[in-house]
Amino acid sequence: MGFFKNEIIMLSYWEKKNFLKYDLIVVGGGIVGLATAIQYKEAHPDSSVLVLERGYFPSGASTKNAGFACFGSLTEILDDLNVLPEEKVLALVEKRYRGLLAIRNYFGDQALDYRHDGGFELITQNELSQLDELSRVNDLLKPIFGKEVFGLLEDFGGFNFGPKVKGIVRNSFEGELDSGKFIQALWERCSELKVKVLTGIQVDHLNTEEKKLVIGNPSSPLTFIFQAEKIAVCTNAFTNSLLPRMDLKPGRGLILVSKPLPYEIPWKGSFHYDKGYVYFRNIDNRLLLGGGRNLDFEGEETVKFGINPSIRSYLISIMNEIIFPGKAPEIEMEWSGIMAFGPDKRPIIEMLSPGVGIAVRLGGMGVAIGWQSAGELVNLLQKV
Ligand SMILES: Cc1cc2nc3c(=O)[nH]c(=O)nc-3n(C[C@H](O)[C@H](O)[C@H](O)COP(=O)(O)OP(=O)(O)OC[C@H]3O[C@@H](n4cnc5c(N)ncnc54)[C@H](O)[C@@H]3O)c2cc1C
Repeated sequence: MGFFKNEIIMLSYWEKKNFLKYDLIVVGGGIVGLATAIQYKEAHPDSSVLVLERGYFPSGASTKNAGFACFGSLTEILDDLNVLPEEKVLALVEKRYRGLLAIRNYFGDQALDYRHDGGFELITQNELSQLDELSRVNDLLKPIFGKEVFGLLEDFGGFNFGPKVKGIVRNSFEGELDSGKFIQALWERCSELKVKVLTGIQVDHLNTEEKKLVIGNPSSPLTFIFQAEKIAVCTNAFTNSLLPRMDLKPGRGLILVSKPLPYEIPWKGSFHYDKGYVYFRNIDNRLLLGGGRNLDFEGEETVKFGINPSIRSYLISIMNEIIFPGKAPEIEMEWSGIMAFGPDKRPIIEMLSPGVGIAVRLGGMGVAIGWQSAGELVNLLQKV
């Protein structure tokens, strides 16, 4: 706001007439917000649709993630089976898998830089007994995939992982994409459809009865009030500042990227470790390594971006002992992103009042379920 300091900004007749009222306003310009705007506009081509994003770029999780196009590793699914009935676990996996197929089908693999290189889970001594469950999980998932999802990799010596790795489970249905290209594809589709996306606009207050969105402090001369027939709240981890009663908690995730390595990385695909809490992949012959939130759940329950030094050290030790033993690559970049979690892994997709709906709490699988979650929200918004 430095630009406008001590200036009194008054909206003009033209601005008031043309810029403040819409048929649908979406709050939040991540995967879910943009996908909601697109699917609504496709169903209602004559409607006016606006997306309001507080950051210059999406500033939550959608461009901060690892770009895994995944639906759950073997140990992650086994973990879920310990707490959820089989049909619920199946429904979660199916939604993620269908979601991945849906975005690939809609945007095309090239636009997303989708690579179907498979998923791999590193198994340590403690997890070896979980391999006994592999056939059971494959049988369970067969109705969705038609064939076996998980298999043991016979020979992984060429990957040169450290001695802690006792086995590797391969998943031939997983892939990886470029998270920036995914958002780029969403932006381009918004532009084709004439969906307006305004960035750098934070919604400070939401009046669900009057369907008004207040930008700025009501006593400040810089306050804008947008109004819409319908509102979609797609603010994921940041929802509680607008709607304090929603049942979700933020969870920060850390990602490190190495300098380009002077040797060719002998593997590709998306790799999971420690029940999916740690993940890594090969991007442009650099290591992308992330996760480790389980080391400090409490400390990472925050909406503030930042680096937790103990998690950073933990990830570095995994890099130096497990992924590239004895090689110690240098880290060039690091960042964090904020996810939203709840008591179970399902997102919140519901109407808050007539005309005001919400799709949030995407957990760590928004690449897979974001598009479909948006579709579910659009269906609800259309019923009103
Ligand atoms: C480190 C990390 C790694 C991940 N890896 C993967 C992965 O490999 N695969 C996968 O499937 N998922 C992954 N995820 C999860 C995935 O990125 C999310 O589930 C997904 O991006 C959620 O999308 P969203 O649109 O709901 O939320 P977000 O991307 O957070 O979008 C919400 C947007 O709302 C905006 N906003 C918030 N409040 C306001 C306001 N008041 N006014 C205006 N705008 C507002 C925010 O700036 C933000 O851009 C990862 C997440 C992180 C953080």
